[in-house]
Amino acid sequence: MGWRIGSGQRINIWSDPWLPGPHGGLIRGKSINHNYTLVSDLIDHQTATWKVDVLLNLFESDLVEQFCSIPLSRTDLDDEIVWRYDGSGLYNVKSGYKLLQEERQSDSGMYVAAPLSISRFFSSMWGVSLPAKVKINMWRVMNNFLATYANLQARRLNVNNCCPLCGSEVENVQHIMWECVFVKELLGAQGIQVANQHPDVPWMEWMALVFERLNSVQRHALMVTCWVVWHARNKVVHDGVQPSVTNSLSFILASLKEYEMLNLKGVTRPLPIQAKWEAP
Ligand SMILES: [Zn+2]
Repeated sequence: MGWRIGSGQRINIWSDPWLPGPHGGLIRGKSINHNYTLVSDLIDHQTATWKVDVLLNLFESDLVEQFCSIPLSRTDLDDEIVWRYDGSGLYNVKSGYKLLQEERQSDSGMYVAAPLSISRFFSSMWGVSLPAKVKINMWRVMNNFLATYANLQARRLNVNNCCPLCGSEVENVQHIMWECVFVKELLGAQGIQVANQHPDVPWMEWMALVFERLNSVQRHALMVTCWVVWHARNKVVHDGVQPSVTNSLSFILASLKEYEMLNLKGVTRPLPIQAKWEAP
């Protein structure tokens, strides 16, 4: 997946795959310059051209050449996620599956940041150093094994399928775990941008693509957030207690910290026995 650039306001220069060419569209090997965050900072919106002087200050000339090859639009279009490997820039299922197939056949690293296949997603997900309960929840999320209202309705149970957290959409797995304002706020606060699932990409594949784009800290954050959101959702359903974003966020951050400490302890080997101190 990659971005087709409109206003550039939704695309992070340093962490989103938006460049044409190799490296899966990511900028590699550059230290982040915090004065520039969004691609829109690199665009002169009056003239719809790249700010070449800024680009030359930030990047080597061959990279600047790559930027300038990206066409910009005079009308302020929204940035859109597109499938990078289809020449037209539009996602099509055939090219998507072809890519996943090629991915499975080649572990040579040819597609540097191309989507993980689903099986590779699961092996990396199970390998994450988080408690089993968090991983099992993620496995349920991916497989759509949660008892969401949409799933209960599919089993012909007579329920109101409205999301208990926002009250405005059907509660299916994509909504409660990804697109609901509640989860969006939690993920956004942890630096994870949420783009709506592409209608042609199945849920599991979508999450595998999302997961693949995250670094290990963000993967932990996503998994713990999904776990906390499901608990928060159950608390509303069973106890009628509406969760606040602030409380859920502090709980997520505290849990992440705790797991990190446990991991640190886990990998620290006992210190070698020191020579005994003796009184001089
Ligand atoms: Zn909702």
